[in-house]
Amino acid sequence: MTRVVDFAALRHRGQRRKGAAEEPYFNHLAEVAFLVAQATEGRDPIVVLGALLHDTIEDTQTTADELEAEFGAEVALLVAEVTDDKRLPKAQRKQLQVENAPHKSDRAKLIKLADKISNLRGITHSPPANWDLERKQEYFAWAARVVDGCRGVNPWLEMVFDQAHRDGLARLAADE
Ligand code: ZN
Repeated sequence: MTRVVDFAALRHRGQRRKGAAEEPYFNHLAEVAFLVAQATEGRDPIVVLGALLHDTIEDTQTTADELEAEFGAEVALLVAEVTDDKRLPKAQRKQLQVENAPHKSDRAKLIKLADKISNLRGITHSPPANWDLERKQEYFAWAARVVDGCRGVNPWLEMVFDQAHRDGLARLAADE
């Protein structure tokens, strides 16, 4: 576990979250990993490793081959499964997330759920400075559509998502 934490921290070094608080990117990875660890009651180390590495292929100079050499094929495949194809335009990537979510593995669905929880919390408590209310609400609506395709694997994590979604929308409306 130490090796994967070092690897993820190093690959994402210098990166910050989009929110006004500009938290280190690693905080997001730790939050996603903690959520899936809780959801699986610590019984599935592979999903925790996948969570810590889930943005390495998409957002850093890391390849699936490299992950396989470092952490094994299972982890590498899982990370590849939750990686968007960055060659596609953003709107298409977002649409594909909605369409593909129901066909993902259970582990990938857990990471997707936890990722969206962390992102909704981020937008709620430290929104990107240039996002207006409409853009935030659009993100919430899109995240809910992706998560709809991930339901049925972990009721607890789904409840945490629903709570973050509900509380976040209420808070965003109140902040206006
Ligand atoms: Zn993420």
